[in-house]
Amino acid sequence: MEMVGEKKNGACRTCIKHVFVFRKGTNHLLHLTLTVMTFGVWSIIWLLISLNKLGGWRCIECGSSEVRL
Ligand SMILES: [Zn+2]
Repeated sequence: MEMVGEKKNGACRTCIKHVFVFRKGTNHLLHLTLTVMTFGVWSIIWLLISLNKLGGWRCIECGSSEVRL
C-alpha cells in the first residue's frame, strides 16, 4: 500500500529556523470502502482520525512536533 503524505513550508521551534514540515496522509479511499461496508458506522472513526491528523505536523529535520505553518 502506498504511503501518502504532505509536506509544507513551516518553522521549527527546536531548530529555530524555517524548515519543511510533514505529516502522514489519511488513506481516504480505504476509509470510504470501510464506511460503505459498515453502513456508515466507520465514518465516526474516519472523522476521529481526520481530526487527530490536524495537529500531526512534524519537523522534517529533527522530528519535533513543536512547529508552526
Ligand atoms: Zn526541527
